[in-house]
Amino acid sequence: MQSIPELLERALAHVLASDSLAALEQARVQYLGKSGELTARMKMLASLAPEIKKQFGQAVNTAKGRIEEAIEQRKAALQAGARPSGPSLDITLPGRRRLAGRVHPMTATAEAMKQILIGLGFSYDDYPDIETEYYNFDSLNTPAWHPARDLHDTFYTDGEHVMRTHTTAYQARVMQASGGQVPIRAITTGRCYRKDDIDASHFPIFQQLDAFAVGHNITMSDLRWTLTELAKGLFGPDTKLRFRPSYFPFTTPSAEVDVSCVVCRQKGCALCSRTGWLEVLGSGMMRPEVLRAGGLDPERHQGFAFGIGVDRVTMLRHQINDIRHLYQNEEAFLRQF
Ligand SMILES: [Zn+2]
Repeated sequence: MQSIPELLERALAHVLASDSLAALEQARVQYLGKSGELTARMKMLASLAPEIKKQFGQAVNTAKGRIEEAIEQRKAALQAGARPSGPSLDITLPGRRRLAGRVHPMTATAEAMKQILIGLGFSYDDYPDIETEYYNFDSLNTPAWHPARDLHDTFYTDGEHVMRTHTTAYQARVMQASGGQVPIRAITTGRCYRKDDIDASHFPIFQQLDAFAVGHNITMSDLRWTLTELAKGLFGPDTKLRFRPSYFPFTTPSAEVDVSCVVCRQKGCALCSRTGWLEVLGSGMMRPEVLRAGGLDPERHQGFAFGIGVDRVTMLRHQINDIRHLYQNEEAFLRQF
């Protein structure tokens, strides 16, 4: 007859090799059933001498406990679909969450503007972040003495290249590429760079969308209609526009454009400083110098242009009070959108 440890070892191997609940039950009967091998050892207890009875009894009980435990574990594993002696799969572990990414609110805003303008017949393209001084300044009627060209305001990468200070720098490139063919309706968006402090409303990087249209008989009313469609698409159908005379080197006449406050609907609130209006963009009719730089004839062609801050519009749409949120990639902030 096998010793208890040998019997135990054989029983455990048998249990582990059982590949179905029926086979496992057979194993249980073989060791722990009424005429089972371990049960037979228990029956021997009564006939043993008192001095070994206690030790033998404990060994049998321990073996019985371990076989029962092994049967329970094997049963659970079989019910969970594990193969015999294969790696077990713990189906009680929590699943792994897949975090879905989402579009950054600035990207979504730029995309919304693009879609509205593309719908109005504008075509989109990307242009370089690093521009020549010529395209960034000279082609836009911004002579060397202009304050924008000051080393303290602009990031020069070398003697003649700058980190573009506005997306408007693409205008001459587009006109030159058209070879004098009009109409041209073009938009671009992207990052622009100006030396600036960092606080709630200033940041040295900002995003801009620039649009312009050149053709015959283009007037300020075309500009106004285009901007009205854009503002209604972005801020809702009730949005009103206000033009205020302004100055830009590359447009004449020039206008700052305000939209009716998105929060208070012109009743007056903190966002609009109780004026009912929010300043959103700069616009105007393209200057003759700019058309000439693009190879067009200002006697025959006219154009309008406007530039709109993507950061600014994003902050207005979502009522974000600190521009730094847009550039910090803070997950808790971005999850809201
Ligand atoms: Zn308001």
